[in-house]
Amino acid sequence: MNEKPYVIDSHVHLDDRQFDVDRNEVVARAQTNQVGAILMSIHLDNIKPVIALAEQHQFKCAVGLHPNSADHADNTLESQLRGYAKHDSVVSIGEIGLDYYRDNVEPVVQHEVLRRQLALALELDLPVILHNRESTDDLLKILKEFPGIRGVWHSFLGTVEEAESYLELGLYLGIGGPLTFKKNEALRETVAQLPLDRLLIETDSPYLTPAPHRGKRNEPVYVRHVADMLAEVKKVSLEKVAQQTTKNTRTLFNF
Ligand SMILES: [Zn+2]
Repeated sequence: MNEKPYVIDSHVHLDDRQFDVDRNEVVARAQTNQVGAILMSIHLDNIKPVIALAEQHQFKCAVGLHPNSADHADNTLESQLRGYAKHDSVVSIGEIGLDYYRDNVEPVVQHEVLRRQLALALELDLPVILHNRESTDDLLKILKEFPGIRGVWHSFLGTVEEAESYLELGLYLGIGGPLTFKKNEALRETVAQLPLDRLLIETDSPYLTPAPHRGKRNEPVYVRHVADMLAEVKKVSLEKVAQQTTKNTRTLFNF
């Protein structure tokens, strides 16, 4: 039988409550199907559990404050993240960024906490995982204040022009479930024009479930549907997509 090539889901919220009932089965399905994972933290309370999950299952993880919890930052943020970053499983500062769609945290607070985490990423020489929702211009503007920053623009849904401005900054682009949505022909046409050596694949589990599982909870093994669609869109083999996106992920996150 044809073994499926190894792939890495570069964006997973494995500590999410939606996985409480069957987290070990979800992990087992990923591992028996040759799927690796990078686990996200989003607020200070979930960093320890996320690191523990990564270490238990030999995954990697990111530590940071999501813009929707940026108001939880106090003056110990940097020292806490520096301490967590000493763990071998920690490969990134994330998930950080801006979110103007959910407006529970003032933009000025989001900006300050983002700048502090970008500065810390440079200090620690770690790449960042960037969240953007209705905040593209401000996120780009702030990123440009930090030359040399490395990272991934997670859940890329933009135009070719937007992609070019992120690629120019040296960022990778995270491609997820929306690539498989029937209505997203424009996104497929855009992604067809992007360089495969700058793309990562991701699920954002438990959110953004790809076809044909839409309406159900997402999980890392479904990254295979993203990989299949990316191969179709780029008109290359699945093996090529798997090999190149895995290489990109390992290069960016240095493991
Ligand atoms: Zn996320």
